[in-house]
Amino acid sequence: MPEPCRKMSANQRPRLDSPSELSESSHSGILNERVLVLVFQSIKWDIHALCRTASVSRKLRAVAKRLLWREACVYRAPQMTAALINGGRISVDWHALAKLLFFCCGCESTRHFQLSQPAPGHFLKASRFSKTSGRSFLTRKCRGDLLFVSDPCEHPMGGDVEYDLGIYRGIFGGFMRSRTRACLVARQVELEEKVRCPYCGARVWSMTTARLIPKSAAKRLGSQDDRLEYFVCVNGHLHGTCWLIPLSSDEANTDNDDDMDGDDDADGTPSRYGGVNGFGSPESSN
Ligand SMILES: [Zn+2]
Ligand SMILES: [Zn+2]
Repeated sequence: MPEPCRKMSANQRPRLDSPSELSESSHSGILNERVLVLVFQSIKWDIHALCRTASVSRKLRAVAKRLLWREACVYRAPQMTAALINGGRISVDWHALAKLLFFCCGCESTRHFQLSQPAPGHFLKASRFSKTSGRSFLTRKCRGDLLFVSDPCEHPMGGDVEYDLGIYRGIFGGFMRSRTRACLVARQVELEEKVRCPYCGARVWSMTTARLIPKSAAKRLGSQDDRLEYFVCVNGHLHGTCWLIPLSSDEANTDNDDDMDGDDDADGTPSRYGGVNGFGSPESSN
């Protein structure tokens, strides 16, 4: 369940000394939330350390869920989180967002996208999410929606497979009121039977099945129209796969002028985070 989002202005980090934010009544040392926040600040919210901490005990897991994941997201991707919470008016599942920021979910074969072998998930050192990229994944009718999408994470498949596998992820702001969701509901698109959101565990719609994948998505990714697939969960997380055209290919330089859904002017604010050190096993998903 998403925890309620506390009021926070766009570029302001939560005050660390506010009694309403931090509890230190019952514990000292590592269970003191003020100490925890200061420790994580000093190591720049190292996601590996945070995952380990959250798995130590139920109490620390609860503190992470209530406070630490949010702090990590705000620290590592301030512009993106500010846009997503829209001045505190929209609640966010911070654990799911943190996982989305720092973890490539890998992929398995699906109805519309076949793989010879599954690609495992992994932590990431850096990813770039942008609204401009997100707009390429929205049909013309839904262009007003707020969607951040990452650059594809490249997975060489080895063997005779010429194309690299690209895995990308994203998140809608205010998904409940988005045109994309309205479209999915209006078209009575069925939720997928076998696929779940790797970030929150909820059920997903296939945008391939919904016929809501614009041509601009393949162009943005460096793929081809029928060689990608993505899903959107009922909570507005996006995850998808594509085959990436090798850079040496002439097709990579082809500019498709009659692309109805081509990129618009870049007006997004890329939100870059990086430098996650010390990767390890991810905390298990919900
Ligand atoms: Zn990856
Ligand atoms: Zn989800």
